Amino acid sequence: MAEWEACIGMEVHAELLTDSKMFCSCVNAFGGEPNTRCCPVCTGMPGSLPVMNRKAVEMVLRTALALNCEISMTSIFHRKNYFYPDLPKNYQISQYGDTPIGKRGWLDVPANGRIVRVHIRRVHLEEDTGKLFHLPTGESAVDYNRSGVPLMEIVTEFPPDMHSAEEARAYLETLRSVLVYLGVCDGRMEQGSLRCEPNLSVRPGGGDTFGVKTELKNLNSFRAVQRGIEYEIQRHIAVLESGGKVVQETRGWNDERGESFSMRTKEYEQDYRYFPEPDLVPVQFSEEWIEQVRASLPELPLTKRQRFIEQYALPEYDATLLVEDRCTADYFEEVVALGAEPKAAANWMNGDLARLINAAGIESVRECKVTPRDLRDLIALVQKGTITGSVAKQVLEEVFQTGAEPSQVVQAKGLTQVSDADQLIAWVRQAIEENPDAAEKVRNGKMQTLQFLVGQVMKLSRGRANPNEVRRLIGEELGVTVE
Ligand SMILES: [Zn+2]
Repeated sequence: MAEWEACIGMEVHAELLTDSKMFCSCVNAFGGEPNTRCCPVCTGMPGSLPVMNRKAVEMVLRTALALNCEISMTSIFHRKNYFYPDLPKNYQISQYGDTPIGKRGWLDVPANGRIVRVHIRRVHLEEDTGKLFHLPTGESAVDYNRSGVPLMEIVTEFPPDMHSAEEARAYLETLRSVLVYLGVCDGRMEQGSLRCEPNLSVRPGGGDTFGVKTELKNLNSFRAVQRGIEYEIQRHIAVLESGGKVVQETRGWNDERGESFSMRTKEYEQDYRYFPEPDLVPVQFSEEWIEQVRASLPELPLTKRQRFIEQYALPEYDATLLVEDRCTADYFEEVVALGAEPKAAANWMNGDLARLINAAGIESVRECKVTPRDLRDLIALVQKGTITGSVAKQVLEEVFQTGAEPSQVVQAKGLTQVSDADQLIAWVRQAIEENPDAAEKVRNGKMQTLQFLVGQVMKLSRGRANPNEVRRLIGEELGVTVE
């Protein structure tokens, strides 16, 4: 049996974060009462004329530059003609042909411990369609609020650079984080503002021809992307190994059943009868505009990750988590700028704070009550020995819930670390008295049991006892040497 190699490309559609739609002044926002955010232009009334949204053009330019693309100094729009109820004009205005705003770029993607360079064929601008709803009554309804929302399409190059579901997922995750960093898309796959359609084929490993491609739709999460692609690769292999032929088609993904299904055989370009949009002037860039946008690009995630590793001496793992979104990365740098030790700040942010944020269902660290100053103070309280590490966890939780300052919480709840010998000895003796078996084991040299007794003292002290002192005192009481 041949070893198979998967070849994966991807089309990504990203709704742009402009205030208004692509060719009219209707509001561009998710949701809303159906058909309240539309006008004659975005519902395709005869005689209405589109006017281009400069901001949307600039966002595509920004993205194309960030993806290392060549920029077409002049690009035009085409009409892509097809009939579907969610498209009232019966054509979609889209950039087609050899002048997308950006072409021949690339994105470096960390995947499986190495960097995969994924080449980008084109980055272009088009408009979104409306949304169809199939009601339980058997009727269908259509909402045109999304109709005419500026949509950016990013297509990977052929031949494909991706060869596994993990790489495809990593590409999408990296691309998403770049788009969010650039402020051009909110990246919400569950709301459909970021959508991806992978296409894939398999061939015998090391071959130089390509198998028949299928395209996958309805992938609403990173997990679905990975599962869907894995499933399709196995399906292709099974068809080929049984002597069958893969049919070129678009397939849907059913996440509940964990399988893909045939939707329609693939259309060909000539089916769309593209022709230049006569109502729009060409998009023209000047060198000044391009350079101005290039100069305004933010530091991108991969570069930031490398800088965090070098500047703050962070392990790769910590840095990777911190740069996942720009907000978290900025917050971290603020905590450090206020004087916190970087590794301690990273530990708190990626550990206990991240856990609290997830549990509370908050979207970003900025929305929680713990400010960078609070976190800096909490770290300082531990480092000065005012509180123990385990008390610090309780304090963080209290600050997270109430927004009180860490030092206030420590004062109000009497959580200061106890190093007073008399108090410590009293707790140590109590712990020994209540756990005679454990004490006997330690006396006989079973040092693993020592930690159990330390834990008992920490319990008695509500986490306040200085743990190093406690270890030393237990040793003294039981007549054993503790390192
Ligand atoms: Zn409109």
